[in-house]
Amino acid sequence: MNLVLMGLPGAGKGTQAEKIVEKHHIPHISTGDMFRAAISEGTELGLKAKAFMDKGELVPDEVTIGIVRERLGKGDCEKGFLLDGFPRTVAQAEALENILADLNKSIDYVININVDQSILTERLTGRRICKSCGATYHLLFNPPSKTGVCDRCGGELYQRADDNEETVKNRLEVNMNQAQPLLSFYKEKGYLRNIDGQQHIDKVFTDVEQLLGGLN
Ligand code: AMP
Repeated sequence: MNLVLMGLPGAGKGTQAEKIVEKHHIPHISTGDMFRAAISEGTELGLKAKAFMDKGELVPDEVTIGIVRERLGKGDCEKGFLLDGFPRTVAQAEALENILADLNKSIDYVININVDQSILTERLTGRRICKSCGATYHLLFNPPSKTGVCDRCGGELYQRADDNEETVKNRLEVNMNQAQPLLSFYKEKGYLRNIDGQQHIDKVFTDVEQLLGGLN
């Protein structure tokens, strides 16, 4: 099964990605993770990527497309793959079509985890983190027993600067503007499948599984 996973920040994409790759034994190919690994290993790729990532910009297409081409050619992608964080632009999506055609493959589905913007804002702004041990909480969905205090170590909880409402709205706006042309591209190709991400995590996964049931 050859899959692309899409979803805005806070939609639960990471959680569903983990579940899909665990169940189907396919590699989880996240370009963000690949860049972060390259940075921590201090490779040439890492050096190139870091300059852009630090500014919050996209790494140039020729770099990103190159690493995806190399990765998809590896033996563990024979049975399939789950792409996450790639493609991010229509140029990357077109390049992916060419890469897959060269490998005699094609995308089965582009799974888009759909959640309303107001709910995403609530999910992202409610996050609180322990200053001492880094444990994460959510004011509504996973609150600490005592307000502002970490259950695990008693440390003080705080809100990350980029989790405040204004920044979160901005981040969502930027991501939505990026995703829209891609969603149209994949809808046109007939690959796009929207999954309701506003349900319980397990129900979201059941819906994903129902979709994947027809694939081998
Ligand atoms: P992520 O973990 O997917 O949010 O990615 C972290 C950062 O890596 C992004 O902000 C970009 O700088 C870079 N990156 C990840 N995937 C891509 C991509 N497909 N194209 C360009 N840059 C990317």
